[in-house]
Amino acid sequence: MSKGIQSVKGMNDLLPEDSGVWQFVETTIRATAAAYGYREIRTPIPERTELFKRGIGEATDIVEKEMFTWEDRGGDNLTLRPEMTASCVRAGIQHGLFHNQTQRIWYMGPMFRRERPQRGRYRQFHQFGIEAFGWTGAEIDAEVIVFGSRLWKALGITDIALELNTLGSDDTRAKYRDSLVAYLTEHQDVLDEDSQRRLKINPMRVLDSKNPAMQEMIEGAPSIIEFLDVDARSHFDALANYLAKVDIAFKVSPRLVRGLDYYTSTVFEWTTDKLGAQSAVCGGGRYDGLVESLGGRSTPGCGFALGMERLIELVKQSNPDLTGATPDVFVVNIGDSARTAAFGVSEQLREAGMSVVFAAGGGGIKSQMKQADRSGAAFAVILGDEEVANGTVAIKPLTTGEEQQTVPQEELQLALQKRLQ
Ligand code: ATP
Ligand code: MG
Repeated sequence: MSKGIQSVKGMNDLLPEDSGVWQFVETTIRATAAAYGYREIRTPIPERTELFKRGIGEATDIVEKEMFTWEDRGGDNLTLRPEMTASCVRAGIQHGLFHNQTQRIWYMGPMFRRERPQRGRYRQFHQFGIEAFGWTGAEIDAEVIVFGSRLWKALGITDIALELNTLGSDDTRAKYRDSLVAYLTEHQDVLDEDSQRRLKINPMRVLDSKNPAMQEMIEGAPSIIEFLDVDARSHFDALANYLAKVDIAFKVSPRLVRGLDYYTSTVFEWTTDKLGAQSAVCGGGRYDGLVESLGGRSTPGCGFALGMERLIELVKQSNPDLTGATPDVFVVNIGDSARTAAFGVSEQLREAGMSVVFAAGGGGIKSQMKQADRSGAAFAVILGDEEVANGTVAIKPLTTGEEQQTVPQEELQLALQKRLQ
């Protein structure tokens, strides 16, 4: 038998049994964003390919191999967004959001990268991210980091650690680059093909390689921390000071460079050892040159992006019992006239603010009670022809083991409201 048409490789359906956890996480995220005064932005999923080439950088994994790109019928070269910082900047420039004002914004939605699908790595995945535009001080770097920490707390996640680094100033990176090129050239024999090429175009990208055969060589590479100038060091110290003020621990990872070219100064990653090979849950940093490089006036920026699938896997591990919202009431109806009456009762209860599932299709009492149990509702409301004739209705608690009770129909709403309190 044919299995029918399947979804595209690496692109998953979110089934109803899982949507409850997603909604819990999304709601918590929205509340956290509000707690810090961030406002939502939504941008189109396709953008001009040029935006990501210029924004993310030509010598990155994303731009070199991972973008879903096509030429549209009108001849435009378009790409499904692989990340959203570039889109936020594009929208900000287009709508004048950076003119004499600061912005705290957040986004959530699907991103697309043509990677090898595996646990925690998909071709359509979802990110939540925040971006703060217009501030140069380390307090905003700290805010972006603390935001993450508050979110983990709200979601009940504990197995997550902060790795921090700084890429310093342009001058720092130029000096570091020379020393790194010398080191990598000495170790040319260990470099894979990508890294050989990147050594010439963008040597810092080599540090971001995931090739296990290169990890030892990467560990031995020179550390950028030794090249920091006074300003970069004082920015880093100020950030560390803010984090200490609110008790956020971190480890300095001198070879953390992140996979996108736009970062300057602070970079960080929240990682976990609970997700197998995919350890990065959230990454971000400062990107003071990005707005200008995409055609806007020079505007500093700082933000992070987190992978929703990885985050939700962590949430499920620490809250295995988390389920979606369940209805208050399941309305059972036995017989044709009871069905019409029960349909009316259901609507009445919804009008009073309850969430009510109606046993459409009727059926025997046993099968309807089974459906009622499966729905997770707190109460079954039962109407048969006898109840209709007497103007009564039965209420059966489904989760407490209490006795069923019969009440006059006009008292049903109040009786349920009392019990649901
Ligand atoms: P990784 O090192 O795992 O490839 P990355 O550095 O490419 O991650 P970013 O571009 O910084 O990731 O995106 C931020 C977050 O988005 C990551 O920390 C991760 O949680 C998530 N993410 C990135 N790529 C994928 C993917 N293909 N599938 C699922 N989640 C992803
Ligand atoms: Mg990646």
